[in-house]
Amino acid sequence: MEILSGLNLGEIKRITSQLGASDFRARQIHNWLYLKSVKSIDEMTDLSVKFREELKKVAIVSDIKIKVKQVSSDGTIKYLLEFADGECVETVLMRFDNRANLTACVSSQVGCAVDCSFCATAKRGFIRNLTYKEIIEQVLTIQRDTGLKVTNVVFMGQGEPLLNLDNVLKAMEMFNENFQIGARRLTVSTSGIIPQIIKLADLNLQSTLAISLHAPNHQIRSKLMKIENKYNMNDLHSSLKYYIQKTGRRITIEYLLIKNINDTTESAKQLAHYLSDIKCNINLIPYNPIGENDYQKPSNNSIMKFKCLLEHSGKKVTVRLERGADIDAACGQLRGKLPR
Ligand code: SAH
Ligand code: SF4
Repeated sequence: MEILSGLNLGEIKRITSQLGASDFRARQIHNWLYLKSVKSIDEMTDLSVKFREELKKVAIVSDIKIKVKQVSSDGTIKYLLEFADGECVETVLMRFDNRANLTACVSSQVGCAVDCSFCATAKRGFIRNLTYKEIIEQVLTIQRDTGLKVTNVVFMGQGEPLLNLDNVLKAMEMFNENFQIGARRLTVSTSGIIPQIIKLADLNLQSTLAISLHAPNHQIRSKLMKIENKYNMNDLHSSLKYYIQKTGRRITIEYLLIKNINDTTESAKQLAHYLSDIKCNINLIPYNPIGENDYQKPSNNSIMKFKCLLEHSGKKVTVRLERGADIDAACGQLRGKLPR
């Protein structure tokens, strides 16, 4: 059986021509899949009943299963999706009241090998990479389930996207070509895998690169993120300058705020200094509890104070709105298991 989701137009043409149908049929199927997000071949109503029956003998729309769907009081939806081999990942759909954007937060791996101390995904260890089809299937599943069109994709679910770069790049190309989601509406978030940042710079993509920095100096960062011992902040700094110079793009710096660890005045000053020659916006993420460590979220007062200190350095600073916390769908809370 062929699985239609994830095929590009050329691959669909191969199937239609095997069935003796024209390329025009392939284009119709392509539209139904990516723009109208049908759940079944029967819904492709501009194909003749006879042709649909032929197609059903050789193909299905998708084999991905929605294991659990949870809707948060703020409208965020979290899906636990199951792939053909039984492995599961989460995908989150976020809507922001005042914007028409619908943002899908997709996973790129089952689990993650980077093992950051604050992240629920890390507790699972690394299981496997997702294929590009499994990545785009996450967006298709959301579209099929809600009947809505996703406008933005962030690679901020489970996994380190730059450790599965080939599949992530192919998925980005598919989002561009098949879903009509422009490169600027795609964001890849990384813990800082330097050789792959250089590779992205050389590809000169127009998508947004977000760096999970989370600390103002080597000492604090190495306590929070083991990756700091492999790719340290000094070298990361050079790679970011290279990336900005090559692409001309402004990057996003993600900075997790953890009470009494990296939220002090001294930390804000050091961070501002580290970023002084980096063209970036800063996104502060108040820590979301995962129940497996002693970290705490800072008070609103200290979050605002930290923000102000950074703003003095002339940077644009936002505090990430917490989405879906009541269903454990917020940043860092994805673990790919059935709800506890
Ligand atoms: N692996 C990539 C992308 C997935 S994580 C990366 O780390 O960048 C998406 C964001 O959520 C990252 O910035 C990550 O550091 C952050 N995050 C992880 N655990 C968190 C937690 N408990 N609270 C808030 N943010 C968290
Ligand atoms: Fe992996 Fe990102 Fe979680 Fe770190 S924060 S363990 S890199 S998913």
